[in-house]
Amino acid sequence: MTGVVLNNVVKRFGDVQVIHGVDLEIEDGEFCVFVGPSGCGKSTLLRMVAGLEETTEGKVHIGERDVTHMDPSERGVAMVFQTYALYPHMTVAQNMGFGLKMTGHPKEVIAEKVGEASRILKLDPYLDRTPKALSGGQRQRVAIGRAIVRGPDVFLFDEPLSNLDAELRVEMRVEIARLHKEIGATMIYVTHDQTEAMTLANKIVVLRDGRIEQVGKPMNLYRDPDNKFVAGFIGSPS
Ligand code: ADP
Ligand code: MG
Repeated sequence: MTGVVLNNVVKRFGDVQVIHGVDLEIEDGEFCVFVGPSGCGKSTLLRMVAGLEETTEGKVHIGERDVTHMDPSERGVAMVFQTYALYPHMTVAQNMGFGLKMTGHPKEVIAEKVGEASRILKLDPYLDRTPKALSGGQRQRVAIGRAIVRGPDVFLFDEPLSNLDAELRVEMRVEIARLHKEIGATMIYVTHDQTEAMTLANKIVVLRDGRIEQVGKPMNLYRDPDNKFVAGFIGSPS
């Protein structure tokens, strides 16, 4: 049971409130997409799930555990960012295994997990290459591989495809859908791309100015948006 539940989550930076009491239930194994305009609080909300930002008020549960004040490393989450800083001097395999090495996992365990992740991501042929010998899409795959090897309960993606060109975005979108199908883990995915949201999500959360505007299945939001704002993001033009 590793759904994610937010209860009345509030975030203030100094005097400025950017998240205004968000309640949200994401079910175990669900692919939940946050959409909304730039600055509406998507990343902040995701970072509070990851533990990279403290909540000012409210609670975050992952599975049965109250993780509100827990360290990021103890939450069972792994995050994939838009900019995927890989270590340039390390091979693909070393990049993927680095986190496990730092936490003292034995070589055989690291090799097994890296092997598994590279199979899922079709990176086997590239394990001995360094990042400069990879395409942008392959690099982002390595970044996703780093998350997979940690075996998280919850994957968090913050606009992971924004830096890729249109063609690669489509390819990686398919990869991420396949990853979700294969691993079945709970995933929270931030994007401003309507197609990504519509094709990847089981549940879409539309955010506006730090509040939830509407939550629903993609087709429900598309067919029956509550208002023009939601329609502007995912609704049909009618
Ligand atoms: P999004 O990811 O939807 O573009 P963010 O979550 O990054 O939005 O930002 C939401 C709001 O919080 C913005 O107004 C942003 O300027 C503000 N904000 C984000 N991080 C900080 C910070 N560390 N300090 C102050 N304000 C921040
Ligand atoms: Mg953001």
